[in-house]
Amino acid sequence: MKLLDKVAIITGAGRGIGEATAKKFVQEGAKVVIADISQADVDRTVEEIKAMGGEAIGAIVDVTSLESVNKMVKETVEKYGKLDIIVNNAGITADNTLVKMSEAEFDRVINVNLKGVYNCGQEAAKVMAEQGGGVILNASSVVGVYGNFGQTNYAATKWGVIGMTKTWAKELGKKGVRVNAVAPGFILTPMTEKMPEKVLDMMKDKAPLKRLGTPEDIANAYTFLASDEASFITGAVLEVTGGVVL
Ligand code: NAP
Repeated sequence: MKLLDKVAIITGAGRGIGEATAKKFVQEGAKVVIADISQADVDRTVEEIKAMGGEAIGAIVDVTSLESVNKMVKETVEKYGKLDIIVNNAGITADNTLVKMSEAEFDRVINVNLKGVYNCGQEAAKVMAEQGGGVILNASSVVGVYGNFGQTNYAATKWGVIGMTKTWAKELGKKGVRVNAVAPGFILTPMTEKMPEKVLDMMKDKAPLKRLGTPEDIANAYTFLASDEASFITGAVLEVTGGVVL
């Protein structure tokens, strides 16, 4: 098992990529904290993990609130005595073209995808530096790397996440903390269900592997980067995209 007895927080783990990552981590021996803003999704995911024979607790968190994030990290350490891994996965979209985008749409996405990752990274880093090691994994996107029509706010956050990842890798390496990002391509989750089918078909066609990704494709990448197999990898951005370039 790649993550035996590791303690991991996964934000946005109530569904989609976060849920798949939590389940994969449990299969690899980790104890997981299912952290999400939606109580119903948290309860369902925790129940399903327990039914698999895994160890999990739920944490209702709003990643935009430092107080809420602080409580999540505190409860994790109180319950399990340490924090080995955090996957800063919670993220949202609010798409519009540049000239039509409202200030509220811009601010909402910045708050969750950028400030949320900052809040979680900061609180986790304090614990990890103190305990002498850990792994921080951040959710970027192919959209952050290449840009995408109608996603000014989202692309800015996902490129910003890469900047934070590389900065934290420099700051925290000497404390034994590795920091990496995963940049998924187009993955079939509730987030992409909102996209027009013709756009998804176009993305499938653009990808050399001629398919959209599954949440498990991304969960596998997070598992590798969280594990000791990636012990010499920090400050990296792993594109898991089927080869798509926008
Ligand atoms: P998803 O299915 O929409 O799941 C995201 C989860 O995050 C939801 O359960 C959502 O809860 C939760 N969340 C939203 N705001 C939150 C907040 N303030 N605090 C805590 N939790 C919050 O998304 P996904 O497709 O799995 O994507 C996961 C991550 O991968 C995101 O960062 C996304 O940007 C990134 N990504 C996804 C794709 C893709 O194609 N799917 C591609 C590249 C990158 P509620 O909905 O109940 O609010």
